[in-house]
Amino acid sequence: MDRRGFVLLMAAGVLGAAVGRGTAELVAEPTSWIPGAVRPAAATPSPPVQPPGTLPPPIGVVDRLPGTGTRLALTIDDGVSSAVVGAFAELAADTGLRLTFFPNGRYRSWTDNARALRPLVESGQVALGNHTWGHPDLRTLDDASVAEEITRNRRFLADVFGAGETPFFRPPYGSHDARIDRIAADCGHPTVAMWEGTLADHRVLTPDELLAAARQWFAAQSIVIGHANHATVTTVFDELVALLEQRSLETVTLADVWTHPV
Ligand SMILES: [Zn+2]
Repeated sequence: MDRRGFVLLMAAGVLGAAVGRGTAELVAEPTSWIPGAVRPAAATPSPPVQPPGTLPPPIGVVDRLPGTGTRLALTIDDGVSSAVVGAFAELAADTGLRLTFFPNGRYRSWTDNARALRPLVESGQVALGNHTWGHPDLRTLDDASVAEEITRNRRFLADVFGAGETPFFRPPYGSHDARIDRIAADCGHPTVAMWEGTLADHRVLTPDELLAAARQWFAAQSIVIGHANHATVTTVFDELVALLEQRSLETVTLADVWTHPV
């Protein structure tokens, strides 16, 4: 199946999921209602309905999507390479793939590709999380420096993408502890987004190595980490999309699943 076919398949999956979550409400009959009389309008308005598929963000660590289903969250970190970030933006635009990026503001790739990424962020097809400004091992820093790393990147995401609040925080190298988690929460990121599967491409891989990692970890309800750092991943985009299709996996952003309560 080509990319367009895959997009249609994913759209069908989203619709199917939405239908399954109908908001049936039980409304009690007004006790004053008399048969034959004009039925009075409901006295109380319906409560606001939460958008389908969204839950309040968890406080603490997540590494999988909740519940059962056929969703997969592909999360892409860092952004050392402008070309690779640009290729991911193009892939998303071409296929409808839903992605969550964890940029480091220190890399120019994000401003280089802001024009391509902004519409995807605005539509919700791409979600963002905070991965710190400079990618340090936060456990080596004092409290004030940890907070500065997070808040500087938070401002960067808002400035470059017009991004609203994001609850998601991913510590560089996955290095965190209770102190780091508390500071991140104080900075506005209560959800520490770790991962279950990895493309293992924080180092330079051959295409075969990267695809082997994808075959190992592309699974239902998984959060998978990859990186926009080395070009290898861009040479196997078609194979990755085909693998998702073969396994009937529907990509979602972390914000599709968890959002800030309104
Ligand atoms: Zn990283």
